[in-house]
Amino acid sequence: MSKGRLLSGMQPTGMLHLGNLEGALANWVKLQDEYEAFFFVANWHALTTMLDRTEEIKRYTRAVATDFLAAGLDPNKCAVFVQSDIKEHAELHLLLSMATPIGWLERVPTFKEKQEQLHLETVSYGLMGYPVLMSSDILIYKANAVPVGQDQLPHLELTREIGRRFNYIFGDIFPECEGLMTEYAAMPGLDGRKMSKSYNNAIYIADTAEETETKVRSMYTDPLKMRKTDPGHPAGCAVYNLLKTYGRADMHEDCEAGRIGCVECKKRLAAFLNDRLAPIRERRMELEQHPEKLDEILAAGAEKARKVARATMVEIRAAMHLD
Ligand code: SF4
Repeated sequence: MSKGRLLSGMQPTGMLHLGNLEGALANWVKLQDEYEAFFFVANWHALTTMLDRTEEIKRYTRAVATDFLAAGLDPNKCAVFVQSDIKEHAELHLLLSMATPIGWLERVPTFKEKQEQLHLETVSYGLMGYPVLMSSDILIYKANAVPVGQDQLPHLELTREIGRRFNYIFGDIFPECEGLMTEYAAMPGLDGRKMSKSYNNAIYIADTAEETETKVRSMYTDPLKMRKTDPGHPAGCAVYNLLKTYGRADMHEDCEAGRIGCVECKKRLAAFLNDRLAPIRERRMELEQHPEKLDEILAAGAEKARKVARATMVEIRAAMHLD
């Protein structure tokens, strides 16, 4: 029995890594059995930060969609599509922007962060309106559930506020959407910081088994543990912390007592990750060898999504006397 309608997306700003897989995708794979689910590649959103690299956005759009499917999203259970294939998102974005005070957007914490992070001298209208586009992504499907991380909660709250304001002016159209918090510890990267493509410390879903082994060999461990017999401090070790996110860090005492060395630990981690990623890589490879399959799946996903988006727009245009 479906719990309702669910929507989530990811920006194609790079290849997806283990953090994306375990922090979001693995959860989506479970949720597709519980909800009428829509998952999309947010290529319009990527324009806010990669306007000078649109060819890359195109390439990553396919790569991210491939990762979605390789991770286990099943096109028979959910809709997988590309945002720009559903033009109704843009129409609703325009209409919602009329009902969104600028002050609400200026208060969104990620807006200020992005502005500082990207050292932007001028902020584009698109970057500022990014949360309105996100609201239209959600509201156009009348989604009642959105899986989110902590950092996206302000966006979701803004979506609720915009939806309420719109309902107040034009009548009850949008339901309240609920954030489904993803319970997962942040995945440490190769250098021990949070795994992120911008830190260049990630293990990618698309990496080969050999690339994964090489990356794991380069991982940060306890610098005081030079030999196997030296007493180690696992708490600050990236290898230990990565295994811990998988509940596999049973070498704590052996490390401290000097009974295990970093080489052995890294071998265990690489073997574990390669086992975890093997079926995903196999599906990935198959999709890459048959690009027409991906085209078909994305077209069918867009068809499913468009049907719902069009029905919502008919209702909205009538409510706003734009029909
Ligand atoms: S033995 Fe293992 S847990 Fe200890 S520092 Fe080396 S890699 Fe980390």
